[in-house]
Amino acid sequence: MTGKVDYLRLAKEFGVQLITDEDLGRLRELAGDVHPLLRRGYFYAHRDLNQIIERQAGGGRWALYAGRGPSGDLHIGHLIPWMLAKWFVDRFGVEFFFELTDDEKFLVKEGYSLEDTNRLAYENALDLIALGFDPKHLHLIIDTEDISLLYGIAVRIGKHLTLSTLKHTFGFTDSTNVGAAFFPTLEIAMAFLPSRVSGAEVPVLIPTAIDQDPYFRLGRDVAPLLGYPKPATIYSKFLPGLTGEDKMSASNPESSIYITDDDKAVRRKVMNAFTGGQATVEEQRRLGGNPDACPVYKYHLLFQDSDETVRRIYDDCRGGRLLCGECKLMLHERLSKFMVQHREAREKARERIGEYRIAAKL
Ligand code: SF4
Repeated sequence: MTGKVDYLRLAKEFGVQLITDEDLGRLRELAGDVHPLLRRGYFYAHRDLNQIIERQAGGGRWALYAGRGPSGDLHIGHLIPWMLAKWFVDRFGVEFFFELTDDEKFLVKEGYSLEDTNRLAYENALDLIALGFDPKHLHLIIDTEDISLLYGIAVRIGKHLTLSTLKHTFGFTDSTNVGAAFFPTLEIAMAFLPSRVSGAEVPVLIPTAIDQDPYFRLGRDVAPLLGYPKPATIYSKFLPGLTGEDKMSASNPESSIYITDDDKAVRRKVMNAFTGGQATVEEQRRLGGNPDACPVYKYHLLFQDSDETVRRIYDDCRGGRLLCGECKLMLHERLSKFMVQHREAREKARERIGEYRIAAKL
């Protein structure tokens, strides 16, 4: 996937490694296949992914960690790292620790009460569970309710983090409230929780977007000081905005598909999407379109199951055999099917959410 963001430069700037064909080959050997998000290059960089792969090869234990600041505007892009996590869980039987940061959202976002963010933590968890996780493998940690698990680790981390580091990493200023200033210790503590609850060394792999690297680097710096393994990370590119931006924009609701969108809204957004097509049908037939600069194609890359379908869309677009209207209808059909299944699974998850709470299992 290409665009205006220079992903290679970003990776170089952060000093992270690119995922190589060799890494993917090793994963294929162990898992039997490679998830489309990896083989199509949406997840493209990492820190220590190869160590996790070798740990898996040697039968060692490791876990996944991700999190979410609960809010009412979850879009399908948020589900993407969780889908990759599901693949790792299915292939390797690893545990997935998921932090719902109702505290942080309350502390940094105006207009939310703590009751609101706590309620939204449960709502957002439904979207995660809806992807098909088993309670044996998915453990939900809700900060305000499960703090006793994290606090002992967090205070130890807190002793090693200065305000100046936090200002530099998170952009905190003198007007940042002290709750928000303490919060990063909890996010880092989560990376060490699997080791703490199992009493053994359990490194984590964190699937997230590339711009999150500076935050997790703090966790990697602190880990050896506390005797924990450094968290490994696997980084994605950004979800492109349907309206043509490189990154979906929260201030433009038309640029992404929200979980709460009904089918009419999904169709409108897809049919109005920016494309890499020509100005007229005649020109599209004669010159072909540019899928590499087209958000509709990028959504096909993320959501079509079949590599053959993706390849055909690319070739037919380039060759002028596919018109943007037809291509958008295909995308709408795919997303619509996904959303219907997701909504049903989400409602079923409501009855079972308690089984996923870490507090119910310890
Ligand atoms: Fe984009 Fe599809 Fe049009 Fe090609 S045919 S430019 S992939 S919308």
